[in-house]
Parts: sequence; structure tokens; C-alpha cells
Amino acid sequence: MQRAFKVYGRTNEPCDRCGTPIEKTRTVGRGTWYCPHCQPRGPER
Ligand SMILES: [Zn+2]
Repeated sequence: MQRAFKVYGRTNEPCDRCGTPIEKTRTVGRGTWYCPHCQPRGPER
């Protein structure tokens, strides 16, 4: 199994895949890091 990406705790650091700055979003009680390029806000689809 693979968690979202290896971007946890890497806010503003370049994505390992595309180099896009990692963004952090806040969910209920959790912080989630994601690459806006590789992982465009899941829930929308
Ligand atoms: Zn990326």
C-alpha cells in the first residue's frame, strides 16, 4: 500500500515527481500534504 505520496511534512518543498511545490491543506483534525499537479484535490472527482 502506498500513502498519498511522500510529501508529508514537506510544505513548499518540490514534489519528487514534477517539482511542483507541495501544498498543505487542513482536514478535520489532520493536515494533508499534496502535490497540486500530481494530486489535484481528490474529492472533486
Ligand atoms: Zn507532483
